[in-house]
Amino acid sequence: QTIKLDQNESPYDLPDRLKEEVVARLRSLNFNRYPEINGHTLRKKLAAQLGWPADGIVLSGGSNILIQALVMAAGIGRSVLSVKPTFSVYPLQAGLQGAKLLECALNEDFSLPLDELKTHLANEQGVFFLANPAAPTGNLFTLEDVEELARASADNWLFVIDEAYCQFSGTDFSQLVKRYPHVVCLRTFSKAFGLGGVRLGYALMQAGLAEQIQKVVMPFSISALQLAVGEIVLEHGDYAEARVQEALAERSKLFAHLQSLPDLTPFESATNFILFRVPDAEAFYNGLLERDIVIRRQDHLPGLEGCLRVSVGKPEENEAFMRASKELSQTLVSHV
Ligand SMILES: *Cc1c(COP(=O)(O)O)cnc(C)c1O
Repeated sequence: QTIKLDQNESPYDLPDRLKEEVVARLRSLNFNRYPEINGHTLRKKLAAQLGWPADGIVLSGGSNILIQALVMAAGIGRSVLSVKPTFSVYPLQAGLQGAKLLECALNEDFSLPLDELKTHLANEQGVFFLANPAAPTGNLFTLEDVEELARASADNWLFVIDEAYCQFSGTDFSQLVKRYPHVVCLRTFSKAFGLGGVRLGYALMQAGLAEQIQKVVMPFSISALQLAVGEIVLEHGDYAEARVQEALAERSKLFAHLQSLPDLTPFESATNFILFRVPDAEAFYNGLLERDIVIRRQDHLPGLEGCLRVSVGKPEENEAFMRASKELSQTLVSHV
């Protein structure tokens, strides 16, 4: 069976006992009735768990939908600003919605090009997306740098900090949302909570902005089925913590292994994936495919020549990947 390490998913499905509860809850639902309009019950549960006001939470069927909504909310004729390389959905939505796309290349060590970003923030207006931890580079930007950008964007921008991987970095930038009314934190159930297939995400922002953004997200866009899963997961969310701990331990193992291979350079990661550079990305990728292991090529992206990205899987999947990458590094190096 193919080992799938290409989408930064959790390698584990929802525990059986929770799936049973989901099935029971679904059976009790009236499918003829509309769901709660903005997922009020799930929002209240999230609010209680996060210690965040419920009227400052906007739910959606995955954070991708919120990215779309936030580009829309920035308004016609506005700009979308991001770094590059970054999460592909930001430039995609900018293009689809006819926004002007401004992209600033990360520094060579993947740190933020602060001056260039601040020039755009001073001269343009729109929505600024920053994934932190960053994707696909996996590094974490400091609170100091991000707050500097929050200050620089206060007048004319929405500033969206995408925290899809925050459970793996142990960071929480929502303190900036409390201090700045134009800052939004995006979260998802797709990664640490292992619900990529269910489609659930949310955004934290101040209540005034939430009221506006809620208008842009279609009413009833989250089905009763999605809401039911989200509610049950929040009632038993403790399963995620042990998985995150395992992923962190496995990530260290993977990193040390990749570092030990000649001609192979892994980059430090604060996420559940590792970006690494090889002499021949295509050959390495194809060699893994021949061994039934799928990872993700990133070598087409600016600044990521020769780079591949592997998600942290189950221990036995990571073992298989490590074995294969050792073989490949030996064969591919000996060919040079
Ligand atoms: C995986 C990921 C998401 C999650 O998107 P969903 O639509 O919630 O599944 C968001 N942002 C980044 C940077 C990601 O890598």
